[in-house]
Amino acid sequence: MSKEIPYKIYLEENEMPKQWYNVRADMKDKPAPLLNPGTHEPLSADELSAVFCRELVEQELDNDTTYIDIPKEILDFYKMYRPSPLVRAYCLEKKLDTPAKIYYKFEGNNTSGSHKLNSAIAQAYYAKKQGLKGVTTETGAGQWGTALSMACAYLELDCKVYMVKVSYEQKPFRREVMRTYGASVVPSPSDTTEVGKKILAEHPGTTGSLGCAISEAVEVAAGDPDYRYVLGSVLNQVLLHQSVIGLETKAALDKYDIHPDVIIGCAGGGSNLGGLISPFMGEKLRGEADYRIVAVEPASCPSFTRGSYAYDFCDTGMICPLAKMYTLGSSFIPSANHAGGLRFHGMSPVLSKLYHDGYMEAVSVEQTSVFEAATQFARVEGILPAPESSHAIRAAIDEALRCKKEGKEETIVFGLTGTGYFDMVAYEKYNDGTMTDTIPTDEEIAASIAKLPKVD
Ligand SMILES: *Cc1c(COP(=O)(O)O)cnc(C)c1O
Repeated sequence: MSKEIPYKIYLEENEMPKQWYNVRADMKDKPAPLLNPGTHEPLSADELSAVFCRELVEQELDNDTTYIDIPKEILDFYKMYRPSPLVRAYCLEKKLDTPAKIYYKFEGNNTSGSHKLNSAIAQAYYAKKQGLKGVTTETGAGQWGTALSMACAYLELDCKVYMVKVSYEQKPFRREVMRTYGASVVPSPSDTTEVGKKILAEHPGTTGSLGCAISEAVEVAAGDPDYRYVLGSVLNQVLLHQSVIGLETKAALDKYDIHPDVIIGCAGGGSNLGGLISPFMGEKLRGEADYRIVAVEPASCPSFTRGSYAYDFCDTGMICPLAKMYTLGSSFIPSANHAGGLRFHGMSPVLSKLYHDGYMEAVSVEQTSVFEAATQFARVEGILPAPESSHAIRAAIDEALRCKKEGKEETIVFGLTGTGYFDMVAYEKYNDGTMTDTIPTDEEIAASIAKLPKVD
């Protein structure tokens, strides 16, 4: 404990992880497999290869390989914006007058403004390697679409983005960033796909959802042999790529002999949280160490805390594989919550399994209290956080205040996934006092849960 802990802990370039860590390899009980929506049989690699790139399918199905080499081309790209800093939030601690020590891993230091670039470059790389012309995808708040556009521009791949309509309208500048990187951007639901037309007919005036946009992007990729679909969260492969966040965090903490007590991350589809916690969860699964691990989700879209653990479609159009996960039902369309990146009805099957087996906790927080935490954080730590990330800030502040009350000197680590420069419409609502908290009723959740596919 002699070493003085710097404000920011950076790794040297040669200390950056050269392999991704696959937490599934250390899980005795594996997450449930993806099922064919027609036959309810586990999907084969061949079936998945119609939609996803071959090597990504291998990673998706690999429950056994603990470490997977990061290709040199991806490592070179990572070096443009990684390692990311692990920051000691001295000013926030002081402001809260807490004995707790707070650290955050900051993933917002790249133009996409979030952790999503870590997986975007990997997925684009494998598409390029397979000789494809391009990829299709959905984007909610726009971070994933931006990250993928950047990766595709770098590798000279075509990129078609279906953007959830509410974000398309609220965030015209995000859209322009994607177009600047050469992507084409369509508001979803749209009349450019069969599934989009159907959703528009059933829900006229809908502001869209990630689930709708996924259906559209998958339909387009499945109809063109030179394209594949890529997804920014939820999938096992995305958690694998995001393990660089956790590996760097662990290496930085180990450098100063710091042992975290609580690790916190916001949870939309679970990729940043899954990546951040991976190496720590590995130690927990192997019985080598113990940590409290907390997922934070919006009260408006509470998959872990109010959803069911069941097989469900990943998309609203019900054309995607079935995944066993905590879900609110694929027909659940969340209210126009500002944290667009957390508006997904389901959750990573890996995290769902770990949560179900008692390895982690989950809390849900309301939007106005999230923006209160975001503002507090911005004013003392300088960074203007993304609304998604601010869910983790809320929970970290709450934990630090608990430590104050209990007189405990715990160490809290949270994932600060990105910046909020494109979220000023939401900040404006908060500043004007017109932001509201929308929480689905039990009846609303029960209605979409009742429509879950029947799988035995
Ligand atoms: C997309 C996004 C999230 C949520 O996605 P996960 O897959 O749950 O990590 C969180 N924060 C930011 C900034 C995002 O862009």
